[in-house]
Amino acid sequence: MRIYLDHNSTTPPLPEVIDAVAEAQRDLFGNASSVHHHGQLAKAALDQARDAVANLIGANANEVLLTSGGTESDNLAIRGIAEATKPSGKCHLVTSTIEHEAVLTTFSALEKRGWLTTFVPVDASGVVAPQALDDILSSRNGDTALVSIMHANNEIGTVQPVTALAHIAHEHGALFHTDAVQSAGKLPVDVSDLGVDLLSLSGHKFYGPKGTGALWVRRGTRLVKQTTGGKQERNRRAGTENVPAIVGLGVAAMYAAKAIEQESLRLSELRDHLEAGILSGVKETQVNGRATNRVSNTTNISFNHVEAESLLIALDLEGISVSTGSACSSGTLEPSHVLKAIGLSPHRTQNSIRFSVGLSNNKEQIERVVKLMPRTVAKLRSLNRRPVHA
Ligand code: PLP
Repeated sequence: MRIYLDHNSTTPPLPEVIDAVAEAQRDLFGNASSVHHHGQLAKAALDQARDAVANLIGANANEVLLTSGGTESDNLAIRGIAEATKPSGKCHLVTSTIEHEAVLTTFSALEKRGWLTTFVPVDASGVVAPQALDDILSSRNGDTALVSIMHANNEIGTVQPVTALAHIAHEHGALFHTDAVQSAGKLPVDVSDLGVDLLSLSGHKFYGPKGTGALWVRRGTRLVKQTTGGKQERNRRAGTENVPAIVGLGVAAMYAAKAIEQESLRLSELRDHLEAGILSGVKETQVNGRATNRVSNTTNISFNHVEAESLLIALDLEGISVSTGSACSSGTLEPSHVLKAIGLSPHRTQNSIRFSVGLSNNKEQIERVVKLMPRTVAKLRSLNRRPVHA
């Protein structure tokens, strides 16, 4: 049996999710905007899913917009706020250096269209210091429209002090958005406790269907819609809703809300066991980012003198799925911007592997990986050291 240790990339949908989606494909084909019986059924299913998502994040259901996932939610939040606040003269946006591409490239796109952007750095443990954000905002003349800083990082798992950061943004008259794609469903997320104005989440990161997600927007927040068309989602997101997939999102959200505490504890034990086993069994290995205050399922480890891509392939051949700390986009290997941002040497950024455990993993699987790692790494290191003959 293969061992899947890449739950931060995506998670397998729960059996209950698969069943609910299949059933909804058959029975809930109506357009949720139609007034007749079939439309009403679809609309009721949407409302139920919306309630489940709202419950997962401690929000009011009428503040939850259903989207196609984390990327769309991030785009809608950032572009929507940037465009809504520009007429008031606010043209400055702040984010961190370790955000997901969905945020970083949206910032680059807005920069090209005339917005001013600042990237707040993180320290060596992968955390944004509240003082660093305060310094940036204090140096402006109140023209910052939005601060967007993620809740948990997808590569190293660090959880940001979002409550403190949001408080600082508000003191300077800016709104605060958090990308909670890697925390929602994994650790308790409550929009009131976090004190944010907008929050993104994605269904496929917590055992829901791909292409589902949500953006929570605090009541009264002005947002310019990014798709024009019908008046769905309170006239903030045009387009016929994908009812069956959204039903699946609702089931996943319900499961997550119930299981979160126990599962998070179980996963942190598995992750810690895996991490300790690798660090003690394989020489010259280090954990990237801080070991505390991380999302429970993630560890990112560098293996000196081993190309991460080669290790990933070697593990894949052994039946183990992991991912590198690098983003591999369109066939070109870019060193991870997250590992660079926490100050790792270029060498170490190329030696790093992300392990992210989840529901399908158990202690036996982790033991198997721990046992296999020393041999796999030793083999690659010996190949690396072999002299090259022309
Ligand atoms: N934000 C973070 C932190 C992520 O990890 C991801 C996905 O990897 C996304 C956004 C994008 O989410 P989606 O795949 O639902 O578009």
